[in-house]
Amino acid sequence: MKTNDHTLLMLLTLGLLVVASPAKGTTAEVKPAPYVDIHFHADARTEGGGDLPNVAAWMKSNSVDRLIVLQFEKSMPQNEAEAKQIAENFKAYQGQIYRFTVLLAKDVPDKEAAVKTLKKMKEEGVIGFGEHYGRGLDFDDPKCMRLYAACAEVGLPVLFHMDGQNNKDDDKLSHLENALKTYPTCVFIGHGPGFWARMKTMDGLFASHKNLYADISAGSGAKAVSRDKAYSREFLVRHADRVLFGTDGGPWSFGKAKPPHFELVKSLNLPADVHTKLCRENAEKLFKLEHR
Ligand SMILES: [Zn+2]
Repeated sequence: MKTNDHTLLMLLTLGLLVVASPAKGTTAEVKPAPYVDIHFHADARTEGGGDLPNVAAWMKSNSVDRLIVLQFEKSMPQNEAEAKQIAENFKAYQGQIYRFTVLLAKDVPDKEAAVKTLKKMKEEGVIGFGEHYGRGLDFDDPKCMRLYAACAEVGLPVLFHMDGQNNKDDDKLSHLENALKTYPTCVFIGHGPGFWARMKTMDGLFASHKNLYADISAGSGAKAVSRDKAYSREFLVRHADRVLFGTDGGPWSFGKAKPPHFELVKSLNLPADVHTKLCRENAEKLFKLEHR
C-alpha cells in the first residue's frame, strides 16, 4: 500500500467515525450500516442455486448482509424434486439468505393438513409464512383463518399482501383486526397498498395489538412513509420494535438502480436506535437470525 493510499484510508476511516458517532440529543447521523431485507423474491428451483447467486450479488452491492426470500405462486415447488432442490440451494447460503414458505388458501383442506406441512417445512429451515395473498378473499375468510391458526400453532410469522382484490379489508381494517384478536400468538407482518394506504388506522391497530408488524417494502410502503415524513418519523418511533426493512426486490431488481427504501430511511433522520431496529435488529429478534 502506498502512502497516498494510507492517507486515503485514514480519511475514509475518520469520515466513517464522524458519521457513526451520535450527535447531541436523540438524533444521530446514520452510519452506512448493513441492512436486513426481509422482503425479497427469488426462484430457487433449478440446479446451481436458481436466482440465489444473483441475489447474493445484489445484496453485496446494496449493503444488505442478510435477506429473506418469500415464496410466491410462480416460484413454488411443483414436485418433491423441486422442493429438495430449493432446500439444497438455500443450504449454500445458510446464515445469509433465509426463506419463507407459503400455502395457498385454496389448496389447504383444513388446519391439520397445514400444520403437518408447515411443521415439516420449519424443520427444514423455513422461518416464516408468506407472501400470503388471500386471492379474492377477505382477510379473515375462513380459508385464510385456518392458515393463520396453523401458523400460530407451528410458530411461523405470517407476512401478508393486501390490496383491493386480495386479502380484502375495509378502512377500519376490521378483517385484519379480527385475525389479530383471534390469533394473538401469531405475528402478522403487513405490506401492500391496502395496508399502507390506511396508515392512521394501522397506527391505532399497532397500539392495541402487539402481534401486528409491518414492512416498508415496495412502492406502497415507500410512498406511505414518504407522504408526511414528520408523521412517519413519529409513527416509526412509536412502533420502533415492530416495523421492518424490506424492498420487495427480486429478479426484476438485478442490474437496476437501488430501491428507494435505503435513501428513504436515511432521510427520516430517525434516532440512531430506532434506525438500527428498523434496518436490522427487529428482524434479527423476530426471526432469531444469526449475527454476522
Ligand atoms: Zn412481495
